[in-house]
Amino acid sequence: MRINVNENFHKLDNNYLFCEISRRVKACKEKKPEAKIINLGIGDVTLPLGRSVIETMKKACDEQSKKDTFRGYSPDTGYDFLKNAISNYYKKYGVSVDKEEIFISDGAKSDIGNLTDLFGDNTVYITDPVYPVYLDSNIMSSCKAVFMRATEENGFLPMPRAEYKTGIYYLCSPNNPTGAVYSREKLDTWVKFALETGSLIIFDAAYEAFIKGDYPHSVYEIKGAKECAIEVCSFSKTAGFTGIRCGYTVVPEKLNCESYSLNKMWRRRQSTKFNGVSYITQRGAESAYSDEGVAEWRKNIDCYMKNATRMAEFLKKRGIEYTGAYNAPYLWVKCPEGYGSWEFFDYLLENCHVTVTPGAGFGKCGEGYFRISSFCSPADMSEAIKRLGTLL
Ligand code: PLP
Repeated sequence: MRINVNENFHKLDNNYLFCEISRRVKACKEKKPEAKIINLGIGDVTLPLGRSVIETMKKACDEQSKKDTFRGYSPDTGYDFLKNAISNYYKKYGVSVDKEEIFISDGAKSDIGNLTDLFGDNTVYITDPVYPVYLDSNIMSSCKAVFMRATEENGFLPMPRAEYKTGIYYLCSPNNPTGAVYSREKLDTWVKFALETGSLIIFDAAYEAFIKGDYPHSVYEIKGAKECAIEVCSFSKTAGFTGIRCGYTVVPEKLNCESYSLNKMWRRRQSTKFNGVSYITQRGAESAYSDEGVAEWRKNIDCYMKNATRMAEFLKKRGIEYTGAYNAPYLWVKCPEGYGSWEFFDYLLENCHVTVTPGAGFGKCGEGYFRISSFCSPADMSEAIKRLGTLL
């Protein structure tokens, strides 16, 4: 073929991280077939969906079998019943979001990737370490990326700096991979900075439901954020929808770039390139906000967070430095002196058959760290702690 391809794809890191982890785990299994490997690298939920969500989806499925209740294409931006439920959920945090500002999607990852359609040539500011989708989607659309270092010195929470200019700033709180969470004061500084410099914040709140302390769950809890921020969120980690697929993005009506309304542009983008989320899924997502639905996913989150707390207590006892765990399902742990991320990954795999995620896979500043996920079963967490106890 002689067509022109998007050359930017050659600049991507070829999904190095998870392929490399699988390769090393496979090699270990071949060498020691009897070993039971415990996966603390997993970023996916493991507990089943709540009963009420399942029952609601079954009912919605039955509706599709009858002429009177059958539904075809859903509205491009989602059904009002789900938008109203999301709008009510925001009220819990004192945030008013109109249903015209909410766009239902098949998940946060798609929205984060697709948002680049709205923008021309900008500098994008991305934390290091980072959830790789922010970076890769911008590489694909040839935007210049500047890294904001998330290190021990800034508590893994980069803040505006004098040299930062007008651009698109990706913030994720609670953070994947570090588990760090922005305070109200810190987010307020970001919002003021964005307003002063004419910048846009893309705020990823995928882990908001894991927050236990007094931290903002939404960027819109901060005054002025409706004029400078888009918020992306998801039912994946909140209600266990990683396989069902449902998320949403809030594009405020007040969000304008010169004469362009980003809300209208995103509506146009979605109606052109997206044909909506299934009725069954949206009914399931709506029921995740019922009292029963919330109680069910809260129970699952409590289980993951108990895992995180137990691991944190173990690390603390052993004097191992970490962050995260109390407001996020991740712990960001410092490798012992002299070990790089991948070296320590190999050491744990080889000597106690536990896999973690090497920090270097999330960016240069991740070197010397690893991420532990608490999305495993309590039994696996107990066994992993026992095994790590013999080594660390
Ligand atoms: N944002 C962050 C920070 C994530 O860690 C993930 C998934 O791991 C996503 C977004 C993707 O969420 P979804 O399953 O809704 O696509």
